[in-house]
Amino acid sequence: MPKIIHTVAEWRALRAGFRASRQAVGFVPTMGALHPGHGSLLVRAKQDCPVVLASVFVNPTQFDDKWDYENYPRMLDTDCDLMDRSGVDYVLAPSAAEMYPNGTRYLVGETQFSRELCGAHRPGHFDGVLTVVMKLLQIADAERAYFGEKDQQQLQLIKGMCTAFFLPTEIVPCPTIREADGLAMSSRNARLSPAERALAPTFNRVLRSAPDATQARAQLEAAGFVVDYVEDREGIRYGAVRLGKTRLIDNVAS
Ligand code: AMP
Repeated sequence: MPKIIHTVAEWRALRAGFRASRQAVGFVPTMGALHPGHGSLLVRAKQDCPVVLASVFVNPTQFDDKWDYENYPRMLDTDCDLMDRSGVDYVLAPSAAEMYPNGTRYLVGETQFSRELCGAHRPGHFDGVLTVVMKLLQIADAERAYFGEKDQQQLQLIKGMCTAFFLPTEIVPCPTIREADGLAMSSRNARLSPAERALAPTFNRVLRSAPDATQARAQLEAAGFVVDYVEDREGIRYGAVRLGKTRLIDNVAS
């Protein structure tokens, strides 16, 4: 089983040892409730790096919806089983106080792309994401960090932040892992009712098949989704929809 660490100081001490022995560290940040999508990042990290650190932290500053934060699935024991099978060595599971010793006095932000797509519908979301990823990258001090293309906008913003702030960690993008019916795996899928789960794969099917974003939106609305956005940009079609209280995001080549 991976060793669970709760404090920055504990990891720093271990990290110094790996630097001395020249063992590269691969880092996979998560919010837990792990599924095979996360598993693919963990396995990739283990292929590339002798030491793998994963984090499990449900980051309060990236939730614009209190209900979503409070109901986000938390299951560290089960998560550790998947971590173990994927070759994870250490799990950083810090408290909110450990991660935010100054509260939200210091924040990292981006002023353009973070305000579009998901950012236009979830005010402050990407400031919260970039802030926690900046903290986690600084703590992990890893050679490489692994992020999923499922969260394509987040991935691009994180890459941009690392360039802008000269962070040395290499950001490694990993492909989206899907259910057999095409639905992108997500920790939030567990909240879908049976009827919502039956409809959910239509989201990816329409994103892939509609001739343009306007028609994709119309087809999704006709199928029963509440559409936040569908937009084509730079060869990628991005979409976000809601089914009841659950929000789904996906992106495909356009
Ligand atoms: P989360 O726990 O949702 O914050 O996700 C942690 C990491 O796993 C992020 O880099 C996500 O992009 C990635 N991830 C989540 N779902 C998938 C998926 N279905 N396929 C690939 N990566 C994923």
